[in-house]
Amino acid sequence: MTSPYIGRFAPTPSGLLHFGSLVAALASYLDARHANGRWLIRIEDLDQTRSQPDAEAQILRALEDFGLEHDGQIVRQSERLELYRAQTEKWLSAGLAYYCDCPRKTLLQHGPGYPGTCAARQLPAAADHAVRVRVSDAPITCIDRLQPALTQNLANELGDFIIRRRDGVYAYQLAVVLDDIDQGITDVVRGADLLDSTPRQMWLYQLLGHTPPRYLHVPLIMRPDGEKLSKRLGSAALQSARAPETLWRALRALAQPIPEELRGAPVTELLQWGITHWQPERMPVTERILEANLPS
Ligand code: GLU
Repeated sequence: MTSPYIGRFAPTPSGLLHFGSLVAALASYLDARHANGRWLIRIEDLDQTRSQPDAEAQILRALEDFGLEHDGQIVRQSERLELYRAQTEKWLSAGLAYYCDCPRKTLLQHGPGYPGTCAARQLPAAADHAVRVRVSDAPITCIDRLQPALTQNLANELGDFIIRRRDGVYAYQLAVVLDDIDQGITDVVRGADLLDSTPRQMWLYQLLGHTPPRYLHVPLIMRPDGEKLSKRLGSAALQSARAPETLWRALRALAQPIPEELRGAPVTELLQWGITHWQPERMPVTERILEANLPS
């Protein structure tokens, strides 16, 4: 019998993999393998201005060094623009999306949420216009396997949101949903910084007539100054030579009670322990954990 579980890790190649992203990757890997599922890798390289040369190769190398083997072919969003374009066109012709030429400055002055300025203007197609998808004012509730349920009213809180930017780059919100559907993803396990995006993604699922995946948003590891450990901030890249020690710490960061005796055990052994004993419900129900509060 083939397993119905398909998970994925979807890094943006804007820098090297750091401890925070390893923890998220590990959670999604363990969740998939514990369920005898498949685990795919998708490179989210839509925004070429943010992509760093070599980052993709280094991320893949790090995953390999940490023993996080993936299934199937690696998918790159930069090679799938036609999928995003075709769907955007469909929504535009159905009137579910529209062009918007509001200057950034005006939007910033207006504050959070799009006021719908271009919703009724029927601007003609233009390559340098953004495209926005219409939202509804019915509340959308994201049920997460760990975090408390999150309800958003997109119309009140956010307004019609961008699916293609003015510079022609398709938005993460659009691409992630089309790709997850196309790849048959059943379970999205990722950092809790994306919890907030989930109702928007669920809205797109609704428009597409698809059931959203199950969601598990794992706590983010924060630096002492409260900043997320991010590629942008140049947090220390992972060192392959220290993979066993780092993986042990990553398991503890996910609140998995990996025994002290396994400290320094080979990566394969640590992962095997993690897969067998995976209990995501042990993680604290919080969106953030201070790095300093992690077991050393
Ligand atoms: N590419 C996103 C990131 O690196 C993750 C997208 C997702 O898992 O939905 O933050």
